[in-house]
Amino acid sequence: MKILVAVKRVIDYNVQIRVKEDGTGVVTDNVKMSTNPPDDNAVEEAVKIKEAGKAKEIVAVTVGEDKAQETVRKALAVGADRGIHVKVEGTIEPLAVSKVLQKIVDKEKPDLVFMGKQAIDDDCNQTGQMLAALLNWPQATFASKIEVKDKSLEVTREVDEGLETIEVNIPAIVTCDLRLNEPRYASLPNIMKAKKKPIEQINASDLGVDTGQRIQQIKVEEPPKRKAGIKVANVEELVQKLKNEAKVI
Ligand code: AMP
Repeated sequence: MKILVAVKRVIDYNVQIRVKEDGTGVVTDNVKMSTNPPDDNAVEEAVKIKEAGKAKEIVAVTVGEDKAQETVRKALAVGADRGIHVKVEGTIEPLAVSKVLQKIVDKEKPDLVFMGKQAIDDDCNQTGQMLAALLNWPQATFASKIEVKDKSLEVTREVDEGLETIEVNIPAIVTCDLRLNEPRYASLPNIMKAKKKPIEQINASDLGVDTGQRIQQIKVEEPPKRKAGIKVANVEELVQKLKNEAKVI
């Protein structure tokens, strides 16, 4: 079995996001970038499946500018076998990413595509679903447990009511939740070894995919500042304020 894992380079989740003064976006210059967190879970799960002898090859793919290759290198350092970097300049929207991934799937013919449930920069939660639609493959989104069966996967999903378990036939798209597993750290020797693993470079334009933007971003602004809290002397005062001022009880 072959698993394709999609990894996106985003602003590191620990970074305090700053909005550009002209409101055209967020500051990315000299800001720490990392792999989108649920994509690390997707890579980890693929590696675990390979370690269990149920997959032969893991291919990590990213779509983005030159520096996006770092995310592929990181995936190679924790167990992916080879990488693909589809080069585009500037922002790329989920629909264009899914069309690019569709071409990569046509070329690589994986049995499974693992992705993150959502990218923390655009919070779109769209790419996996659109890729499934383009390929006409079954999809299991928000996976918090994956069991590989003979020709299918049993996937547990976190939904509002609790946990839902579904079975999807392979080939399938799975989008991974943060609770799926604990991604491992890359050891120094594995980081060194990963430098020798191949990364194929492809220009998005050579795939015949129109990566032009369809969404016009009108304005980006900071969320309103939270008002400072107050201290109350005792429970009676708290109850009285909740009743009479906040009017929530
Ligand atoms: P989104 O639909 O933007 O929330 O992204 C969902 C998932 O799609 C991410 O967690 C990634 O696995 C994948 N993805 C989105 N954009 C890219 C990209 N530029 N390169 C590789 N994978 C991506």
